[in-house]
Amino acid sequence: MAEQSASVTPKWVYVFAADRVDGRADMKDLLGGKGANLAEMASLGLPVPPGFTITTEVCHAYFANGRKLPDGLTPEVEAALQLIGNEVDATFGDVERPLLVSVRSGGRASMPGMMDTILNLGLNDETVEGLAKRSGDRRFAYDSYRRFIQMYSDVVLGVDHGIFEDILENFKNLNGFTNDTELSVEDWGDIIESYKAAVTDQLGKPFPQDTGEQLYGAIAAVFGSWQNARAITYRHLHDIPDDWGTAVNVQAMVFGNQGDSSATGVAFTRNPSTGENEIYGEFLLNAQGEDVVAGIRTPQPLTEKARRLAKEENPSLQALMPELFAELSAVFKKLEARYRDMQDVEFTIENSKLWILQTRTGKRTAEASLRIAVDLAQEGLISKRDAVMRVVPASLEQLMHPTIDPGAKKEVIATGLPASPGAAAGEIVFTAEDAETERSRGREVILVRLETSPEDIHGMHAASGILTVRGGMTSHAAVVARGMGRPCVSGAGILRIDEEAGTLRAGRHVLNKGDLITIDGGTGQVITGRAKMRQPELSGAFATLISWADKERRLHVRANADTPRDARLARGFGAEGIGLCRTEHMFFDQERILAVREMILADEEADRRRALEKILPMQRADFEQLFEAMAGLPVTIRLLDPPLHEFLPKEPRDLAGVARDLGVPLEKLRARVNDLSEFNPMLGFRGCRLAIRFPEIAEMQARAIFEAAAKVGQKSGVAVKVEVMVPLVAYRREFDIVRDIVLKAARAIEAESGAKLDYQIGTMIELPRAALRGEELAAGDDGAAFFSFGTNDLTQTSLGLSRDDAAPILEAYVKTGVFKVDPFVSLDVSGVGELVRIGTERGRAANPALKVGICGEHGGEARSVAFFDAIGLDYVSCSPFRVPIARLAAAQAAIGGKTDGQTATD
Ligand code: ADP
Ligand code: MG
Ligand code: MG
Repeated sequence: MAEQSASVTPKWVYVFAADRVDGRADMKDLLGGKGANLAEMASLGLPVPPGFTITTEVCHAYFANGRKLPDGLTPEVEAALQLIGNEVDATFGDVERPLLVSVRSGGRASMPGMMDTILNLGLNDETVEGLAKRSGDRRFAYDSYRRFIQMYSDVVLGVDHGIFEDILENFKNLNGFTNDTELSVEDWGDIIESYKAAVTDQLGKPFPQDTGEQLYGAIAAVFGSWQNARAITYRHLHDIPDDWGTAVNVQAMVFGNQGDSSATGVAFTRNPSTGENEIYGEFLLNAQGEDVVAGIRTPQPLTEKARRLAKEENPSLQALMPELFAELSAVFKKLEARYRDMQDVEFTIENSKLWILQTRTGKRTAEASLRIAVDLAQEGLISKRDAVMRVVPASLEQLMHPTIDPGAKKEVIATGLPASPGAAAGEIVFTAEDAETERSRGREVILVRLETSPEDIHGMHAASGILTVRGGMTSHAAVVARGMGRPCVSGAGILRIDEEAGTLRAGRHVLNKGDLITIDGGTGQVITGRAKMRQPELSGAFATLISWADKERRLHVRANADTPRDARLARGFGAEGIGLCRTEHMFFDQERILAVREMILADEEADRRRALEKILPMQRADFEQLFEAMAGLPVTIRLLDPPLHEFLPKEPRDLAGVARDLGVPLEKLRARVNDLSEFNPMLGFRGCRLAIRFPEIAEMQARAIFEAAAKVGQKSGVAVKVEVMVPLVAYRREFDIVRDIVLKAARAIEAESGAKLDYQIGTMIELPRAALRGEELAAGDDGAAFFSFGTNDLTQTSLGLSRDDAAPILEAYVKTGVFKVDPFVSLDVSGVGELVRIGTERGRAANPALKVGICGEHGGEARSVAFFDAIGLDYVSCSPFRVPIARLAAAQAAIGGKTDGQTATD
């Protein structure tokens, strides 16, 4: 085309019309999403009113020019106006046959309702008469004109639209009208005069009658709206760069407000909340676009099914205009075939003729995204691999916990932070001890605390959900709850706990210990009573999509599970083993803590052994169940890790009771607590340091593990795959000492039981020194057989930042941009990730067969998983509820790797 070859000046205007389309769907950067898709639809031969797009480059020029449209734009606009005028047999500004247009914004990314659109442009006192004559409907012409004056004055001239609404309201009141439909043609004429007078009054000059002035004013205003406060805020919230700019679309008007054979509506090509393959949307008879959103009249559903469901009396479009409904359905089929995804469409019907005004990829819930991806693949529109790429892994989190039934009645008494997803209901308890007691009586409880600390862990474990008054998204309660998969609402600041009185107050509501409440960790809501719930499950489209993902992924996915219950749950979600079983949770159990405390208070090794003898059978029983739950799959068990003081009471008033239970003098207990107390437990007497100072603890644990493995193996005939993991190692010598203890126990039990054990001894990598010295740790036949990077602690030790104290620092650091994201949520790839990479490389240099995985919250976060895949780890391990997320993320990482990071979505 001539314009293109002679492109000395940039091409600023792209036409979409019946016999000329300049743009394409993939030109979003230049034409914006709306403009590119209008061009694409015109190419497909769909009924799109003709128009043209002024590019985002003009937007840049406009701002660079001190908010002035660049020279050279006008001739291109005039030529394009001519072209579309020819197509609809009208001329812009002509009195007899006026061409009317809409002026619409449209950036690269959709920013619904954030910028401005002007309809019916080109009307003035003369052209309105032309429109009246041509349409044979003066009332419609006046209705269009008064809408235009109001919209244009608001958007371009900055006159508050409330002024116009008041004029219309007053007029109706004076005349005793309630509906707009009661106004006669003459009435609308009067309204128009009042509107124009109001503009003159406000601005000191009349409403522009010159259609050219109207058009360029509107174009400039739409460009200008890129910098309005609403749009700027929206961009910042959605990470849209400020320098993208918007395009402007000028398009011939079609009218949905020409009587009862006209309408306007919006539709999704599939149901955006369930994903069902059915048209979903609404329309208004005799209306223009903005009426649907404005909520002045209640729109009617498109389909009969939706009408029945909503018990709506007004007819559906399907019943009212069956041919048009069929035509609309056919258009939707074409759009889906072209875009290979569910679309969100805006349409208008003018005198029984259908027009499509916009299409874009529709937003949807997690449930719908699964269903749509699977259906599209099964319909042959996309490949299974594309389907796997379509679902955002993190969105699955919404589906992995019991959730409050959308239809549930609920009374919300407080709202805190959505700290750990899922909903839980139970009786209120205020202490960890009560949580455990009530739980052991078979009751479900919600643990309500000012904030939680490590002593509360057993209570948190016993509780169905956790609610705290203080603390942020990375508070102890939030982090531990997420790890355990317990729903948690933290920082519900309006709550007042009175532990003595056993009450919880939220404003005027006073609840007592034992009263039922429900918390929603997905929204932060606290609700009275037991709200109706939905249980999570891996079924239907969810199961299908994940099974497709499994065919693509290289990384194995395991779960962090401490109890047989969690192990079974994890297996149900597809875990291929346990990557981390923390044995301390077994120590916190109410019957055992006494024996654990005896062990800690023992002065002599012999006393310590006696206490450990009591714990051994209980641990063995736990391990047996765990091994049974994971039959055939590897199970990594970590030796005792936390500092011993965590097992002793902290509060002075608890000390006396414990001393009594143990039969030791209070003074002795107090002295022991003092002895063990630490300034910084994170860097203290824990991990392998415990086993080195008190070898008998590791010995007892190793015995319990191997006795259980021998027994389950003999019973089932399948050897249990045990991986014993030594925590917090920095030096080879540390590993050697503990390995010896474990090895001795294994040999002894093989000898005693006659069973052949299948086990490996490896180490957890949580310290930078360990990562750097990977070669030292893995070298030789007696080196670590596996590495499991504990990325939670490795992040703490690499950054020198304790998670328990991190909340205020994280907040400031995310705000000031030191952290792009919370490094405890998404791995610090360039720092901590580098340590993981180095540790893996050096470990494998010493032992190519070294098995390497990670266990930490990062194992269930997509970005981190992609990194672990890229550096060639063998597996990731995450909480049971995140297993499907990790499976999907691992598949996307593998596919992304194969296709150079390209995804199927556009
Ligand atoms: P938004 O981006 O806020 O959705 P649009 O530019 O899509 O703004 O315009 C909003 C509505 O205005 C459209 O959904 C449509 O109903 C109406 N509209 C826009 N252009 C036209 C036109 N040329 N003819 C008829 N109605 C139009
Ligand atoms: Mg729109
Ligand atoms: Mg650790």
